[in-house]
Formats: sequence, structure tokens, C-alpha cells
Amino acid sequence: MSPKTRQKWRNWAGNQQATPHRSVTPRTAGEVTDAVRSAADDGLTVRMTGTGHSFTGAAVAEGVLLRPTELTAIRSVDTATGLVTVEAGLPLHAFNRVLDEHGLALANMGDIQEQTVAGALQTATHGTGRDAAGLASQVAALELVLADGTTVACSPDERPDLFDAARAGLGALGIVTAITWKTVPSFLLCAQEEPMKWDEVLARMDEFDFANEHFEFYWFPHTEGCLTKRNNRVEGPARPLSKAKHWLDDRFLSNTVFGAINRVTHLAPVSTPFVNGISAKALGARTYSDTSYKVFTSPRTVRFKEQEYAIPREELVPALRELRSLFARKDWRVSFPIEVRLLPPEDAWLSMAYGRPTAFIAVHVYNRDAHEAYFRGVEDLLTALGGRPHWGKLHTRDADYLEKVYPRFGDFQKLRDEMDPDRRFANPYTTQVFGN
Ligand SMILES: Cc1cc2nc3c(=O)[nH]c(=O)nc-3n(C[C@H](O)[C@H](O)[C@H](O)COP(=O)(O)OP(=O)(O)OC[C@H]3O[C@@H](n4cnc5c(N)ncnc54)[C@H](O)[C@@H]3O)c2cc1C
Repeated sequence: MSPKTRQKWRNWAGNQQATPHRSVTPRTAGEVTDAVRSAADDGLTVRMTGTGHSFTGAAVAEGVLLRPTELTAIRSVDTATGLVTVEAGLPLHAFNRVLDEHGLALANMGDIQEQTVAGALQTATHGTGRDAAGLASQVAALELVLADGTTVACSPDERPDLFDAARAGLGALGIVTAITWKTVPSFLLCAQEEPMKWDEVLARMDEFDFANEHFEFYWFPHTEGCLTKRNNRVEGPARPLSKAKHWLDDRFLSNTVFGAINRVTHLAPVSTPFVNGISAKALGARTYSDTSYKVFTSPRTVRFKEQEYAIPREELVPALRELRSLFARKDWRVSFPIEVRLLPPEDAWLSMAYGRPTAFIAVHVYNRDAHEAYFRGVEDLLTALGGRPHWGKLHTRDADYLEKVYPRFGDFQKLRDEMDPDRRFANPYTTQVFGN
């Protein structure tokens, strides 16, 4: 794990950069310990990154950057209990394939599978679900290297407070070296995708929520058009999209054409409402079934910036109406659809869905477009409803705000003071959100 000095790092969206003092690629949990101890000897901060898919500066390392690429072993797979232990740097796509080979799967996940298991977990990454929650709810135990270089395990039975805090810990409590996941027997999902008008989606929101295991929808701003997605378990055989249809819809229309559209609307923002009207009509109805992770996730090649807020589920429909009326009042020109997802309550202290049924509203802009006025307008609306920002997605909140919307925020801070009094794991983002 020979260290490299002053190696540049940037995130997926290209809006966060760092030139850490040194970068190290540990191959074992023991090498993580060595790296944390030598950072302390040199008075440097230390932080592991995932694949840099966070839009916030969550993964920025100023002192020692630990790269995750060699910490990817599968430690154990127990098909009887579904407990699977893997190292922190394993990418989700590799994890999904290993699980599938053993007849296992994650019960729910977000819409891409590029992140590392630890990187995705540390910001409480989620998908949409009526019963199945986000990644933080699918963990049975963690192994962490603490600021003093010791390695500890935590679970509901062993150091339960650390377990509840560190599952969505923003890398602020320690370096996660391994995660034991609670997996389920592998399953097929039937995806039913259907364009629908805004009024119908809002009127039928509760019905869609109750009747489907995974409901979400996209609204194409400046238009009436939405795309609804209902994913439910089915018995086999799988009826996947043909290779040609998959290429046409998910690669060509959703990425290649969408990328070209964004280059046009970037140069001519005034064309956005017209272009969105075409986009909303271009995505037709389709039904297919496949292995769960292939339905949950899809490729994303068009680079963007994103903000996502979690609000109480009961506020969703009024919030969407207000959001739509904001579009009528502002001069925003937004080419990216707005994504709406649902989640049951979670128990990790800093999960965005902690303790309440939750609705997520995510807004995006092309990565070359300015996001500030749009994101700020939506943020003002959603923070007035007690919204909680996704830790990996752009927001302007600080500790004064966050302690009001996270009931266990103070407990997290107390634990952080005990575990990392010297702020070995700090970066400017943790200073922003925790206040020190
Ligand atoms: C195209 C795209 C689609 C996305 N879709 C979704 C989605 O559907 N749902 C959703 O909720 N989010 C989504 N996200 C956000 C993304 O899942 C999160 O930002 C996630 O944290 C990124 O994982 P990563 O591996 O890239 O980690 P990074 O962004 O590199 O790091 C995230 C945090 O984890 C910390 N960390 C990483 N490894 C460790 C470790 N071993 N120990 C301690 N701390 C560690 C980092 O320091 C940092 O604080 C999406 C992002 C993009 C770009």
C-alpha cells in the first residue's frame, strides 16, 4: 500500500475536488489501522472514499485519502441465515452478482449500483419501498477502525449505540472495514412503467403506495407529464427486456439522447419546456421482469448535480402542488425530471427516514448548468416542512438546522465527541453539518 503524495481526486459529478496530502490503498483491515495510526502520528485527518458518487463534499479527504479499491474481499456467505460479510470497498454491482450466485439479494436498493457498499451505506442510500427500507436497515453488523487505531465490531447486541450511529455515519465515527448484510432469498421483480398525467398521479398517490412494493414517479417540469414505475415481486420465469429494447430505452434514449438534449437546453434554456414535453411523451409504457437488482438499477451516463429532501410522507401531495406552483412563479428552466420516492421509517440515527414514513423529492440539473437558485428555492420549500437533506446530495444545512429535524442528532454528536475527540475523521463537510 505504498502512499502517493498530492494525487488529485474528484467526484463523479465533477463539482468536488481535493488534493490530499497523501493517498493510500489499503489491502486489509490491518493496513487501514496502520494508515489511521500513521495519520495520527503526522497530525493529519484521514478519510476513506467510495466511488465519489456523492455530490456533497462528504468524501473529500484533505490529509490522508484511503482508496477503497483493494478492500473488496467477500469474507463469508451464510445462505441459511442470509448473513453475508464483505469488505467496505466492494462495489454494489459486484456484491449483487455474488449474492445472486448464492441465491440471495438485497431487499431494496437505489437506482444505480456503482457505489461501494460502505460509501453507499454511510450516506443512508435508499431506493423506494412500501415495506423494504434503505441500505441502513439491511445491515446486521459493522467492523470499524476507530480514531485510536483499534478495531471494533458493533451490532444490535454489541455496542448498539455505535451500531445505530455508524450505519449512516458519514465516515465521521471511524473507517468501516467490513459490513455484515442481512440479505433475503433472491427474487424477481416485475416492472410496470406507465406515462401518466400529473393530476392522476397526485390523485392516486395513496392507492399506488398501498398497492405496490416499490412505487416511484418522475415529473417532467414545465409539463403535465409523469412517468410512473411500479415494481412488484413475481414468480418466474423472468421476462427481461430484449437486448435491443434495453439498449434503445436505457442506453440510447435515457442516456445518449438525454445527454444531447441537455447540451441543447444548456445552450438554449428557453427550449426546455418544449423539449421536456417531447421527453415526457418519448418514454412509453413497458412491462418486464428480471432479477431484482437489474430492475432496481439502471446505467446513468449523463453527469448531473442533485439535491434530495426527505419529508414526512403526509406532506408529499401538498408539497408537490406547492413545488409545481413555484415553477409557475419562477423563471427556472429545468430539463431533468423530478424524482419522487417513498420509504418506511428507519432506525439508524442519521437515516433521512429516521422514525417516520418518508417521501423523498429529488431535483437535478445537468452538471454544466447552474443549480443554486433552483435548489435553494426547492430547499426553502422542503425545509419549511421539516425536510432532511440526503447527506450525499447538495444542500446548505448546518448543525443548527439538522439538530431540529433529527431527534438523535445530539446523541450522534455526543458519541462523536467520545470516539473522535481530535476530529481525525473530519473534513469541511462534517464541520458544516456537525458544527465542529
Ligand atoms: C448517478 C447517481 C445516482 C444515485 N442514486 C441514488 C439513489 O438512488 N439513492 C440514494 O440514496 N442515493 C443515490 N445517489 C447518491 C449516492 O448513493 C451516495 O452519495 C453514496 O454515498 C455514494 O457512494 P460512494 O461509494 O460513491 O461513496 P462516496 O460518495 O465516495 O462517499 C460517501 C461517504 O462515505 C464515506 N465512506 C466511504 N467509504 C467509507 C468507509 N469505508 N468507512 C467510512 N466512511 C466511508 C465517505 O468518506 C463519504 O463521507 C446517487 C448518486 C449518483 C451520482
